Amino acid sequence: SSNGIALYEELEKELKAQGVDAEAQLVKTGCFGFCEQGPIVKILPDESFYVKVGPEHAKEIVSEHIIKGRKVEALLYDKGQKKSLQAAEIGFYQKQQRIVLRNCGVINPEYIDEYIAREGYAALEKVLFDMTPDQVVEELLAAGLRGRGGAGFPTGLKWKFTKNVDSDQKYIVCNADEGDPGAYMDRSTCEGDPHSVLEAMTIAGHTVGANQGYIYIRAEYPLAIKRLNNAIDQAREYGLLGDNILGTDFCFDIELRLGAGAFVCGEETALLASIEGKRGMPIPRPPFPAVKGLWGKPTVINNVETWANIPMILLKGSAWFSSIGTETTKGTKVFALTGKINNSGLIEVPMGTTLREIIYDIGGGISGDKKFKAAQTGGPSGGVITEEFLDTPIDYESLQSIGSMMGSGGMIVMDEDDCIVDVTKFYLEFTVDESCGKCAPCRIGGRTCYNILDKITKGQGSLEDIDTLKTLAQAMRKASLCGLGQTSPNPIMSTLHYFEDEYLAHINDKT
Ligand code: SF4
Repeated sequence: SSNGIALYEELEKELKAQGVDAEAQLVKTGCFGFCEQGPIVKILPDESFYVKVGPEHAKEIVSEHIIKGRKVEALLYDKGQKKSLQAAEIGFYQKQQRIVLRNCGVINPEYIDEYIAREGYAALEKVLFDMTPDQVVEELLAAGLRGRGGAGFPTGLKWKFTKNVDSDQKYIVCNADEGDPGAYMDRSTCEGDPHSVLEAMTIAGHTVGANQGYIYIRAEYPLAIKRLNNAIDQAREYGLLGDNILGTDFCFDIELRLGAGAFVCGEETALLASIEGKRGMPIPRPPFPAVKGLWGKPTVINNVETWANIPMILLKGSAWFSSIGTETTKGTKVFALTGKINNSGLIEVPMGTTLREIIYDIGGGISGDKKFKAAQTGGPSGGVITEEFLDTPIDYESLQSIGSMMGSGGMIVMDEDDCIVDVTKFYLEFTVDESCGKCAPCRIGGRTCYNILDKITKGQGSLEDIDTLKTLAQAMRKASLCGLGQTSPNPIMSTLHYFEDEYLAHINDKT
């Protein structure tokens, strides 16, 4: 944030002015995740955790803490308590397990040496010198990593398909076209740990036999773009990208392609069309990109979070990774926790964590001591989770079974004051805006649903409207060409299932 930048500049100035710029090192990191409390300053080695720090506090932090070793009590997260908590002891972090976000808030993402110092590029080295491509694929399959973009397809299987196709050219693509309202997981990962994505894509290139990668990222993410470009330049300088990587005959390079903010370009076939310079519109699958993707060539496409998991899996092994999570879904999931919650922020939890733990232990409960109403996961493609399901261990299957979905990781919490029909209308407005218009069920069905919801929220709805909504939602699910149209009625179906009384209240009370 601009406040964070001003704080950094002020700290830099004070360290110099007070003559300790040689002894103390000031590091600009990526996101700590605890957005509610930002800007955050962590002082090492004692791990003091200062929150809501402004540029006006820089002078005191330097004179008191850095020079005299005395903590600035008023800025400590746990002010008023006898013992000052270290970051790991703070409730927000205690139930989290950071694999994807392992370096976010820890390293300076603009210096490759800091990534390397934390085992960065060690997985690439292992893959190049100690493993065969088949072993890499087997390791990913054994780990049970599933695509974090939402669909949950086994990553190892995707790689295997591409690896096994005979082709003169193959491609690796990173989907960083994060567009769900309320979601910022991928942006923070690219800003806070860009090399983890580059390393993983390079590993994929070697495994499947590709020599070119593309990162498709929203143009609205300027800091992520800057840090990725900077990381690419540094990796090239260090011989970790480009020709003869680490002295081998393996050549691989990565370029960025900027998306213009169309949500549908997160759909993989639309994304690939956009990279090719065509209009970003989905096409029917099969053939799947793994065998016929970018410019008709076999292409591995994964999202940012999936990529960021891969170096750690290959370093620590599939047994380690598959020991985390549930029976069907291994590892962790990053969520952007927002809405009516005390500790909004970016969190990473083992699969199988319950929504109650996320909302009350990590999120610190509902703001203003209001009553929990529902949480929306999966953004405009997902559905609501109500109170009766707060203890459901979260994974792909469990969320689907209660009418929601994992999605890419947006999680918006609602309290008793939120009108569920209004919320549903908001999501429909979004998907109607973002529909590419190629097929009628999505183009016309979405608009009609939105108009009905609008009527209902204005007290002009009728009971027949509910039936029409249900019929249209079914038709859109079955007949839309791509995921956007197929899933856009999910918020309607889910809220009608759990909160039909609220729809009826609008209709009967004419409000
Ligand atoms: Fe376009 Fe919607 Fe059809 Fe997808 S479902 S192709 S977004 S019109």
